[in-house]
Amino acid sequence: MQNLQECHVLQQPIESFIISAEEVAHVQPDNSLEHALLVLVKSGYTAIPVLDTSFKLRGLISKAQILDSMIGIEKLEPERLHKTSVGDVMSISFQCVSEDAPFEKVLSYSINNPFICVENHQGSFLGIITRSKLLAYLNGYLHEQKKHQK
Ligand code: AMP
Repeated sequence: MQNLQECHVLQQPIESFIISAEEVAHVQPDNSLEHALLVLVKSGYTAIPVLDTSFKLRGLISKAQILDSMIGIEKLEPERLHKTSVGDVMSISFQCVSEDAPFEKVLSYSINNPFICVENHQGSFLGIITRSKLLAYLNGYLHEQKKHQK
């Protein structure tokens, strides 16, 4: 068994996995839930980051949270969508990493999250790393290892 510290896969800088901020769909805390739902449905994403006007990460908003906020006592109340803002519903407690976090940390956070937000040391949002990118990389790495063992 290879020594874990020497394991090349764990030394991989996380930078190469980041989908940069400009390519990440996002909303702002004072956007309406209606706007956020449109962005989520049009993009096909389950959840997206919430950034303020200075590109600082403030939360995450998901389709499930928006649908949940529409549930009234006995029926759906879609009129709530334009009365409620993203900031009232978004999650503010979530796992996030800094730009120099080790691969291992991002991988362990991805167990429970389909994507992880990355910030720089000034707290500005740099982008996201998706679980699918990490798995694709690991899959490729394992195939390479197998080839070299033959
Ligand atoms: P994927 O692994 O590409 O299916 O993405 C998993 C999740 O990451 C999506 O459902 C979104 O919540 C988020 N995501 C991926 N790419 C983007 C993007 N460009 N903008 C915003 N969120 C994204």
